[in-house]
Formats: sequence, structure tokens, C-alpha cells
Amino acid sequence: MVQYQDIVQWRRTFHQYPELSENEYETTQRLKHILEEHNVHVLDLPLKTGLVAEVGQGDTFVALRTDIDALPIDEQVTHDFTSQNEGVMHACGHDIHMATILATTMKLKAHEDELNGRVRILFQPAEELGYGASYITETNVLDGVKAVLGFHNYPSMKVGEYAIKPGVLTSAVDRFEFKIKGKGAHAAKPEQGNDPVIVLGQLITSIQSIVSRNLSAFDDAVLTIGEVSSGSTWNVIADQAYMQGTVRTFDEEVRTKIKHRLNTIADGLAQTFDVDIDVSYDYLPGAVVNDDELTDRAVNVAKAVGYDVTMLDEPLTIGEDFSGYSKHYPSVFALIGSQSDYDLHHPKYDADERIFELAPDYFVTLIHQLLDD
Ligand SMILES: [Zn+2]
Ligand SMILES: [Zn+2]
Repeated sequence: MVQYQDIVQWRRTFHQYPELSENEYETTQRLKHILEEHNVHVLDLPLKTGLVAEVGQGDTFVALRTDIDALPIDEQVTHDFTSQNEGVMHACGHDIHMATILATTMKLKAHEDELNGRVRILFQPAEELGYGASYITETNVLDGVKAVLGFHNYPSMKVGEYAIKPGVLTSAVDRFEFKIKGKGAHAAKPEQGNDPVIVLGQLITSIQSIVSRNLSAFDDAVLTIGEVSSGSTWNVIADQAYMQGTVRTFDEEVRTKIKHRLNTIADGLAQTFDVDIDVSYDYLPGAVVNDDELTDRAVNVAKAVGYDVTMLDEPLTIGEDFSGYSKHYPSVFALIGSQSDYDLHHPKYDADERIFELAPDYFVTLIHQLLDD
């Protein structure tokens, strides 16, 4: 049976050897080693990094997810397991997630014959890039899954605190970029050029109409232009202009509509002013959406294992790649207190390991309940 000290030790080793998104090779080997040492079956899947393990038996199955990647941050916390990989740090606590999910796996394995179904445990790469979940879903390993469960440690909440919200939990975070190619000329001879600065100005005002005129009063969205640039001096008509910004949404339809309108407006202006406008729109993580019924069950289990539960009124503006599951399957994602003076992605972020006292029990209990149904 897994001991508390084992969980802490796993976490510290992960913390000491963090790896960047898509390069989690050693981490994957380490996970595989620990799982195989405990006789947990690792599925044979075409994944470059990350893996999927399985316990239990039968047709019904649920999935449990942890992310495994770290960030390009220089750790500023000193303990005897400080990052040994220069410039890389588990500053989002995915080391905490891995240890929690490993502990859950071992607890499930210890009473495997009592499981009324199977549990697929997803050790997902590249969360920080916003698309690691797709590597897992593309293998079809989740086809037919009953529920996908996950969590993020939350430093501003104390150990023993748990927060959740049914429906939309986090926003979709997207990035757009416009490259306008006009025709440069002498500032005194505009008829010989195609001024991209005029187009840039039109574009800035035109896209403001998307949120104000194309969306309903009941849709939430933010569209912000973060950077514009063009030209290099006072007496030359520039030959190109640039603009980039972000869109935050809480609904897939609204998201698609905004993307579509950005393209349509750019096409129209390109034609009107006889310039080329290159639009790129990057889907970073979508919105995490919690299933209502699963959220109810999760809350009851959280209370039963001893958490102090808060129901959130509003979604968070952070992005989380768990959306890659909640988009396709009934899912539930919770925030669990990890009490640090510094927030996620901060070089001094330092999670409290006592999170391991309750978190694995929460998942074990919830999984048993879901499979017993
Ligand atoms: Zn992160
Ligand atoms: Zn994270």
C-alpha cells in the first residue's frame, strides 16, 4: 500500500527534474517505472510523451487526468529538491498533480477487484501549450468514457479547501494576428502606394463592432488589441502593418462567431483598400465546462472526505487544457487548495504538500461511486 512519504517523494523527484511541454521524456519514463513497479498496466499507445495507465475490469470506464509538463521559469525557491534543470520549473504544480494521481492509482490498484469497471489514468503532456489533451483524445482511448475527472491545485486557497462551479469554469483564451501588406511610397505621392496604416486604423475600429454588434446581450466575450505597429519614419508611406490581440470567451459558438467575423472583416477591408491581409487565429485552451450532475456528485464526495467546499459564482479567466476533454465527454474539474504565498507560474510558487492528505481519497471515492452506478 502506498504511504504518504512515497507520495511526497514522487512529487519531490518530479519537482527536481522538470521538463518542458512536449519534452517530458524522462518524466514519462519515471511515471512508467513507478506504475510498473506497482503492477499497474500501461497501455500501448502512439504517444511521444505522456502515457495512459489502466486499472480495474469490465466495460464501463471513467478517466482521471493529470498534466505532466513544467514551465520555462528559473526557480527561486530553495529546498533540497529545487529544480536541477536550469531555467525549467514545475511552477504550475503539475508535479503535485502527478503525485496525487499516482497515489489515487495505487489506492485503486490495491482494491482492484472491488472496482465495478475500469479507470484509465491519463498522464497528459503539453498542458501549458494548450493542446496536449488532443494528443490523448486522438488515440481514441476515451471513446465511450463515462466521465473524465481532473483538478488543479490552487495556491490562493488553503489546504483543505475545495472550489468548483457547474457549467463554464474557465474561459477560452485565443490569440489573433493581422499582417497587412500594402504598397510603400513617398509620403508626398500617396497615389503610387497602398497605405496599410489607413487599413490598420479601419481594422481597429471595425473589429470593435464584433462584441458590440454581433453578439447578444447575454453572451460574454472580451476582444482586446494588445499590439499594433507600422512604419518607421514621418515622410514614407509604410508597406506593411501589424496587429495582434486576444479573445476571451466562455462558449464555443461565440468563439467560432468571433473568429469568423475577424476573417470576414479582414477580407472586406483587403478588397476595399486593395491590400493583402493575413489573419491567423490560434485556438489556445477552450473553456472548461463542468457537467452539472457530475459536479453535484463531486461536491458531495468532497464534503464527505472532509473538504471545505466553495461554489464559485463566476468562471475564472485562466485557461486550462482540460477543456480538450470537457468539449467531448462529460467531465468535472475542481480547484483544490495548495496554499502558497506566490501564485501559479511565479518563480517563488511553493505548493503545500499537505494537499496529498485529502486529494487522493476524493478521487478514489468519486471513482468508486461513478463506477457503482
Ligand atoms: Zn500553468
Ligand atoms: Zn497548470
